[in-house]
Parts: sequence; structure tokens; C-alpha cells
Amino acid sequence: MATSCVFHKTPVTPPLAVNAEGIYFDLEDGRRIMDGVGGAAVACIGSGNPRVIAAIHEQSKKVNFTFHTQFTTEPAEQLAKNIIDRSKGAFALCGFVAGGSEAMEAAIKTGRQYYWETGQTQRVNYIGRMISYHGASLGTLNVAYNGPRRAPYHPILDQTHFHHVSPPYPRRFKREGESDADFVERLRAELEAKFIELGPDSVIAFVAETVTGASSGVVIPPKGYYKAMKSVCEKYGALLILDEVMCGMGRMGTLHAWESFGDGITPDIQAVAKGLGAGYTPIGAVLISQEVANGLRSKAGVWQHGYTYQAHPLSCAASLEVQKIIVEEDLLANCRAQGELLGQLLRARLEDPASPAAPYVAEIRGQGLFWAIEFDARPLAPKLAGKKLGFLIEAQCFANNLVVMGMAGGWNYEGTEGDHVMFAPAYIVTKEEVEKMVDIFVKSVEALVVEYA
Ligand code: PLP
Repeated sequence: MATSCVFHKTPVTPPLAVNAEGIYFDLEDGRRIMDGVGGAAVACIGSGNPRVIAAIHEQSKKVNFTFHTQFTTEPAEQLAKNIIDRSKGAFALCGFVAGGSEAMEAAIKTGRQYYWETGQTQRVNYIGRMISYHGASLGTLNVAYNGPRRAPYHPILDQTHFHHVSPPYPRRFKREGESDADFVERLRAELEAKFIELGPDSVIAFVAETVTGASSGVVIPPKGYYKAMKSVCEKYGALLILDEVMCGMGRMGTLHAWESFGDGITPDIQAVAKGLGAGYTPIGAVLISQEVANGLRSKAGVWQHGYTYQAHPLSCAASLEVQKIIVEEDLLANCRAQGELLGQLLRARLEDPASPAAPYVAEIRGQGLFWAIEFDARPLAPKLAGKKLGFLIEAQCFANNLVVMGMAGGWNYEGTEGDHVMFAPAYIVTKEEVEKMVDIFVKSVEALVVEYA
């Protein structure tokens, strides 16, 4: 029994990984497992990259730690410049922290600090979305809404300053016969009504995962959604805070997920994490627009956020090398090409009427190397007897040497319905590996649905 505090979906000891290389893990029993989900959409350049390992080693010989009130370092400055230069004017300031929850926590706080510095202290409300995930800290649990994750903490969550509106989740929330444009307009009107209810000048920000991940599985909003949401924020002088912890830094085939919509909107504040450091060292970042940066600098002059390990030199050095590799090896082109193949193969195999899985596939959706399969397991309910199909598929794939991420809960507000499986392999994945992943996955799903039918 492992004595390290691992969080695992079943009360068993997770297998012991002894080596990792590219998209593979070697276990102590000699098995080699293919990773179809990059850990949790993290390992975007695969494991064991010698350039990143060397960058960490070299930095550890120079400056291994600084405290953020005393020094900055070369890798922190270069990484910030790298991100700002590639943002085409969207961002002017980067705050580095140690992960996604920290980045979102800091993004939420940065919004409030901006209004505090600029004299709009009456702004005290945040509007997030139902069926969302922004992290495991109390602040991020407040701004997100996910029934099971909130359940233990419900009585101590802040229901005065954190509010939620409907998600842009067409399969579950679009009405029958409603066009995309009408759906977007309905969501825009709901957000505006919430602003008016709370007091139009009381809102700090509308907060959203640009494309959802762990909450509902790669829900891409309909065209025009963010333009409509940002128009409400602008009308009432509030900020748009986007959470791209999972969907950002290339995962959708563009550096930032919002770029893939091509509607010209940019967030005021954004959180990124997983693809930033690719899992070599813990890191996350808050990306801040010029206007918000000016506001932060106007009075106190400092970013009111102080974690001991923020802008850690080893993490910044590793991430800088990861970002250089992504650009130099043109990995986003591979992300787009292999992503298209992944989507095509999943659809061709799982939507084929000859497949026993076809009747249970509700939707296959994604872009870049970020895909989810949403199942409708209701016909299997008698034999499933409360077990979640998404988790069973994850376990079956694991038995067949493939890691995917099963999710249960995401169709309703309570999080009691839904079965999804997510794919998010590294951007270095090859055509042959994508084919193999899909083959193992489809065979695993087919075996299960036959067993539980
Ligand atoms: N925000 C989103 C959209 C995420 O998917 C996650 C993690 O999966 C987080 C925030 C929290 O990130 P971390 O687990 O690095 O704290």
C-alpha cells in the first residue's frame, strides 16, 4: 500500500511507474503503458526530453531559488517575454505561480486588485458558469460550479460574491430547434440579467474556461459566444477572465484557445498552466493585459500576490525550454494534424453502425489534441448498477495498456449524470500512435458495452 498521499479513483494502490519516455510509462512489473491523455493534458512534449532536463540542470547550477520580493531571474524574465511576444499584444505582464489552481486563484484576486487600485472598490462580485472547474482551492471552488467537488465544502463557500450562469454546452443546454445564434443570444441575455440583478457596476469579472476540460469534457462554445459575453463585460466595465489551464498553450492547435475562434476577442486576465511547463516542473501563470497592468501599477505598484515559490527559477527554465521546443519543432502543426486524425478515427470507428458501441455514443467533440467522447449509458443502467461507464472504460483501457481519462458527472448541475472519456496526448504523438490509441480504445469500449448490455 502506497503511503504517499495519492488521490486515486478506486481505493487501490495505483501502479508504480519507474520510467517515462515520450508518451510511454514503464511499470515496475515490466508493462509499458501508452499515455493518451498526457497525464491530465499536461505532458505536451512527452517525457524525458533531454533539452528540458539539461535546462533544469544548468539553471540549478546557476540560481536555484530566489524570493520574489528580492530578485528576479533570467529564466523568469525570458519566459515572460516569450509569452508576451507571442501573444500579439494581448498581454503585457506575466505572474508565475506553481500550478493551475494557484494561477486561477491569482487571476481572481488580480481582478479585485485592479478595481481596488483604480478606485472602483464597490466591485465585489464574480460571475462564473455552472458545470465548470477552476481548481481545488477555496477561491476557485467558489467561482466554479461542480456539484460533487463542492459538496464537502458547500456550507463554507461564499454565495454572496460568487454567482453562476448557464454554460454554452449545446448538447445539454440548447433548446430544440434553437439556432446557434439564438442560443448565444439567450446566454448573453442571461449574463446581462445577472449583471443587472447584482448591480451593474458591482461585477469584477465574468470567469470561464475557454473550452471546458475536467468539468464537462471539451465543450467548445458556439460561434460568437465569447464576443457576446465580452460585449456584456465591456458594457458594464467588468473584466473577462479566461481559464486556459487545460485548453491553452497549444492544446487546441493554437497557442491560446481563444485564438482558435478567430473573433478578435482577447481576455483581460488569463490563467495557463499545464502545457506551459509540460509537467517537467510545477508552474502556472497569470497573463495580464496592458490596461489591467497599468491599473495594478497605478497605486501600490505591485502585484498583490505572494507565494514563496512563485517564479521559481527551475520551473521557469524548464518552461522556457518547453516553449522553445514547441516553436522550433513546429509542434502545433503536428497537434492540429494528429488532432484531426484522432477525431476522424474516433468518429469513423465509434459512429459506425456496425460497432456495438455506436448506440451508446452521444457526441464526439474536440479540436487540436483535445477530444472527448460523451456516452449515453442509460440503456446499460440495469447491469451497470450504479457504476460509471466513463470510469469502467478508463480501467479497461488501462488493462489494455492505454491511459485515457474517464469522467463521471457533467451533464447536470449536481454532477450526478454523465459519462465522458477524454483524450489529450502529447503534441509529439505520431500517426501510428494515434491509430493504435484509437484501436485500443474502441476495442475496450466495445468489450465493455457488450458485457453490460
Ligand atoms: N482550471 C482548469 C480548467 C483545470 O482543468 C484545472 C486542472 O485540471 C485547474 C484549473 C487546476 O489546475 P491544477 O490541478 O494544476 O491546480
